Amino acid sequence: MTKQVAILGSTGSIGVNTLDVIRAHPDRFKVVALTAGKQVERLAEQCIEFQPEIAVVTEVQDAARLEKFLLAKGLRTKVLYGPQALVTAVTESGCDTVMAAIVGAAGLVPTLAAAQAGKRVLLANKEALVMSGNLFMQAMQRGGGELLPIDSEHNAIFQCLPNGFAKVPQSSLGVEELWLTASGGPFRDTPLEQLAGITPAQACAHPNWVMGKKISVDSATMMNKGLEVIEAFWLFGLPLEKIKVLIHPQSVVHSMVRYRDGSVLAQMGQPDMRTPIAYGLSWPERVDAGVAPLNLAQLAALSFAEPDLARFPCLSLAFAAAKAGGTSPAILNAANEIAVAAFLDEGLPYLQIAKVVEQVLNAIPSSNADSLETILSVDAQARKLAQDFICKH
Ligand code: NAD
Ligand code: MG
Repeated sequence: MTKQVAILGSTGSIGVNTLDVIRAHPDRFKVVALTAGKQVERLAEQCIEFQPEIAVVTEVQDAARLEKFLLAKGLRTKVLYGPQALVTAVTESGCDTVMAAIVGAAGLVPTLAAAQAGKRVLLANKEALVMSGNLFMQAMQRGGGELLPIDSEHNAIFQCLPNGFAKVPQSSLGVEELWLTASGGPFRDTPLEQLAGITPAQACAHPNWVMGKKISVDSATMMNKGLEVIEAFWLFGLPLEKIKVLIHPQSVVHSMVRYRDGSVLAQMGQPDMRTPIAYGLSWPERVDAGVAPLNLAQLAALSFAEPDLARFPCLSLAFAAAKAGGTSPAILNAANEIAVAAFLDEGLPYLQIAKVVEQVLNAIPSSNADSLETILSVDAQARKLAQDFICKH
């Protein structure tokens, strides 16, 4: 049966890769909703090609422009705008599958809506899970849909765990540890004294992956891996101390599971997000993702090392927030989003990103993250505080 797919964040890096996989399999996947923040032109092109029922942008003026353009092309796509319309795209487009690929906290509410509505959720938006792990996993359970991780590390671990692992008692699986691999980003070997002068362009030039700007900066600071540790904690239900980070500069092994009997299972592949996206879309089957085959004989070597926490203070901050639990991961995430945006705007030096996050984490006590209202209010508080610290900087 053809899957009806809604893509939240279709104009971003994950969104475009998702459409690339879908384009190659029109018999399997139909696009029913596309959403974007501000990139109206790109969304218009996507609408013309994929003819969704619903298209969403953030601003009313952009919606009017898009609607006029699509009408002139004879399209009947319903054009909506604003945060609530993202939820409508999930609940009223007739989709059964939702690619959650909006970056940051902006993706939280529609991603939760997809969970509640029992959709197959393809989760790329790790920030949503970091903010609301408990609520989100409960919503998935109540909704009864399937949760497929798209982040390459979590997709790899998902592939290395037995099918239906969530329904098997943890103790009988024999999982000892999850090893999340990390490339170490563009500054893995940069002399520490040079880090102060890093520019946004340098931070966004990832050695192995082509991604959106925010996650590229997160990869440079390794906040990304910290967020991924928290993501793995919620997705796989293992204690934090069983989730390890390993530097692996080649990005060929996407992550691993170590079992009690001595086995370590790894998933390998090209650093190309179309592999995890195709797996999420077609699971439990596999389809051609358009990805070049991996040629291990051509790779000189695969290497692994422990991360250097002095070089990557954001990783330590994320571990601390994960350990504190409650609203701490949401506070960490909000402060990081603001600090990264300021850095990308050239309003904050690179090394101050970790400092801002640390100050905000220290200033707001952790509390129970038991309702969406609490999470959104702490998110707003942390953003404001981060902004204040940046202004004083
Ligand atoms: P991106 O910046 O390229 O794209 C983000 C998308 O979200 C765009 O379509 C943008 O228009 C939309 N958007 C942004 N702000 C919005 C708002 N306020 N309201 C509505 N829409 C908004 O980002 P990306 O690299 O595609 O990453 C998307 C998500 O996937 C992130 O959470 C990221 O951590 C995760 N992820 C990405 C990769 C990757 O390879 N790019 C890998 C793993 C996980
Ligand atoms: Mg990842």
